This record gives sequence, C-alpha cells and structure tokens, in this order.
Amino acid sequence: MSSSTHFDVIVIGGGASGMMAAGRAAARGRRVLLLEKNKELGKKLSVTGGGRCNILNAEPDTKQLLSHYGAASKFLHSAFAEHGMQDSWDFFHERGLPLTVQARKRAFPVSEHAPDVTRCLEQYLKVNQVQLRTGVKVRAINGADSTITGVETNKGVFTAERYILATGGASHPETGSTGDGFTWLQELGHTVAEPNPNIVPLQVAEPWVHRLSGTTLSFMKITFGTNRDKQSGRFHKVGKLLFTHFGLSGPLILNSAAGVKALLQSGPVLTSIDLYPDTDLGTLRRRVLAVFQANPNKQLKSVMKEVAPAGMGEAVLAQLPPAAATTQLNAFTREERDQIADVMKAMPLTITGTMGMDWAVVSDGGVALEEVDTRTMASKLYPNLYFTGDILHISRPSGGYSLQLCWTTGWVAGSHV
Ligand SMILES: Cc1cc2nc3c(=O)[nH]c(=O)nc-3n(C[C@H](O)[C@H](O)[C@H](O)COP(=O)(O)OP(=O)(O)OC[C@H]3O[C@@H](n4cnc5c(N)ncnc54)[C@H](O)[C@@H]3O)c2cc1C
Repeated sequence: MSSSTHFDVIVIGGGASGMMAAGRAAARGRRVLLLEKNKELGKKLSVTGGGRCNILNAEPDTKQLLSHYGAASKFLHSAFAEHGMQDSWDFFHERGLPLTVQARKRAFPVSEHAPDVTRCLEQYLKVNQVQLRTGVKVRAINGADSTITGVETNKGVFTAERYILATGGASHPETGSTGDGFTWLQELGHTVAEPNPNIVPLQVAEPWVHRLSGTTLSFMKITFGTNRDKQSGRFHKVGKLLFTHFGLSGPLILNSAAGVKALLQSGPVLTSIDLYPDTDLGTLRRRVLAVFQANPNKQLKSVMKEVAPAGMGEAVLAQLPPAAATTQLNAFTREERDQIADVMKAMPLTITGTMGMDWAVVSDGGVALEEVDTRTMASKLYPNLYFTGDILHISRPSGGYSLQLCWTTGWVAGSHV
C-alpha cells in the first residue's frame, strides 16, 4: 500500500464538520487525508448567518440546548457530554477567534465575519498536519463485509483504516452540498430519509405581498391554518417578519416552515397577519377614529402612515374597496372606517409552498440515527465509517444549532477514529 494513497483516516467533505473532525483526528496523531471537491474549504460555512456566522447557541444548560434537537436530543446526549457548547466556545477562543453573544443567545465571532471561522479551522488542519486535497470529487465509496474498503475519486482511489463522511445535506447545492453522501449510504444499505428543504422561506400567492419586498414588520402575529374557520393543525407565531419578492422570510418564518409543510399536504395554507397583536380590535378602531377626527378633510391614502405600521399602508389599502384610498375621511361611514382596523387585525394571505433547496438553510433527511453509535458517531453497519454534521437525520431550528451539531459530531468522530 502506497503511503500517498493509504491513510489512517480519510475525511470526505471539507465543510464545518469535516474540518473539525479531520483536525481533531490528526491532533490525536492519526495520519489524516481530507478530500474536498471544491477548490476551497468551508464554502457554505463562509456564507453562514448572512456572512456573520451564527457559530453556536450559547445556551449554558445542556438539557435545554438539546431540547432544540427534538427527537434527536436523546441520541445527542453522549456526544454533547463529550463536546458541548462550552467546549466549542473554548475551542474557537483558544485559537484566536473570540465570540460574542447577541439576542436569543446566538453567538457570533466578534469580527462578525464568517470566513474568519473557516480560516480558524484551516489553521487547525495545518497545525495538525492534515493532508488536504481540494478539487477532488469522491465518486463512490466501496464497502464489503461490513467494512469500507476505499473511496473512488476523479484523482484515483484512496484507502484508509477509517472513514468520516462529512458531505453535508442538500441545501444550497452551489456550495457543494449536493446530497452525494445520501446516495452512497443508500447503496451501502443504510436507511436514509429523503432530504427536504426544512428551514426555508415561504411562497405566497397574493401579488401585494411581492410588492412589499424588503419591508420588515418588527412585531406582528401570524396564524397558519388549512381553513380559516377550522382549528385543527392551526398554529401561530409572534415576532418579526420579512417580506420578499416571492413571499415571507426571516427567522420566525424559517422556523415555521416545518409546521407549514405539514399543513401544505392538505392544500394551500390560509394565513392571517395581525399587524397589532398587542392591541385589541376595539382599541385599534378607536385609534383609527382619532386619526379620522384629526384630519376630516384629508384622503385616506395621505393618513395611512399614521394608521398602519411603517411600509404597510399600501398593503392595507389593497384590502379595501378601490375607491377608499382617495375618499375624504369625513365621507366614510362607521362600518367603512372600522373595516380598516379589521383588516389590520387579520390580513389574509395564502401560502402556496416553500422555496426549494437553493433557499433552504438546512434540509432535513439523512442517515437514520438508529444506525449510528451515539457515543462515537460510527455506523452500526460499517464500524469503520463515521458520520458528522448535516448528513445525520436531525431536525433543528435556526439559531446556531446546526453549526453546534457540526462542532460536536465532528469532534466526537475525530476523537474516536
Ligand atoms: C445560507 C445558509 C446560512 C446558514 N447559516 C447558519 C448559521 O448562521 N448558523 C448555523 O448554525 N447554521 C447555519 N447554516 C447551516 C450550516 O451551514 C450547516 O448546517 C453546516 O454548514 C453543515 O456542515 P457540514 O460539514 O455537515 O456540511 P457542508 O458544510 O455542507 O460541507 C460538506 C462539504 O462536502 C463537500 N462534498 C460534497 N460532496 C462531495 C464529494 N462527492 N466529494 C468531495 N467533497 C464533497 C462539499 O463540497 C462541502 O464542502 C446555514 C446554512 C445556509 C445554507
């Protein structure tokens, strides 16, 4: 066996979790080869958090932190005991990347520059002498008799004692995460749940929503349901909303996507937005009345700034009869005036679908956790194969939980290969 093609460990995929795993294994004295098909490492990592990288969620209570991983929280218990949030925090701090905590315990590098995280991990690889081959695309993983025997690439075959699969999920495929690992695992006999866009923006039918692109509602309540009169499956969220040219986005919407997807199975989702969740209908009607009394000779369109939240005047007018905008306020009947408040308490819109993989922060799906050793991240079918990051079937919200999963599983796999 040639020492240039045979290694102790081969890591496939140079994203967040693959770099962590490779560096950790090499720090333990293993001869590690890291294969990455892109020309550079960490292409997705370098665009995370809108370029700022929400590197982890600084929830100090591990039990509380794990509750965000839903059904996978039990599976992750042992891995987080080995490398939890504080360990990741210290890891980056000790390597010259101090972190800072912002709203909702989201931690970012102090520099708020995602490529700094990639650079920090590249340095970790260099210091520990990981052999790096970029521009190498793995085409197949060979396995026989419960053992992985080698990987076939566009640059030849490489072999190792152990392998770490860190090829990511299927969201934002332009970063390199094209779901290759899922295909190989299925061929090897692993159970793999189909990847679906998970943390993803929503598409809306009504054109008035598209015209609001770029507008933010800093505090509103949105209710999702299949039928405006039916309670079953209905849920709501209160917080910030971002309108886009295709529909709705922002963290609150991204984190509602899983629930909306479930409702979409029985057709378009009927949604209503309450622009003033803290104000009851009667109070809001009286507030509108006060504006009308102060400006009897003005047209409705010229007082919308005082009536509706910033940027929403046009949208509210779009829900009223066409003549309303240019009607003088003293010509409105009481019913017509009250209708303005009614609209602002329940602006109807129709969700027709989620955006696709190109827009998803993460895809769900991946290798079934029952087939993975909770302590080591090793496959139960091929004990010399290990899994890290998005390849695992673990759902979680946005807020730094995905990258924490990469640091934890990467560290644990790297510690056990
Ligand atoms: C726009 C966006 C913003 C995000 N922001 C955040 C955030 O702020 N905080 C957070 O916690 N999470 C965030 N995430 C999620 C987070 O980026 C992922 O969970 C994380 O990057 C997954 O890391 P990974 O190592 O599992 O896989 P990836 O980062 O996807 O890396 C997989 C690597 O494997 C390589 N690869 C794939 N196939 C092959 C092959 N055949 N041969 C060789 N190499 C291959 C790919 O090129 C890629 O480099 C964001 C995601 C997106 C898309």
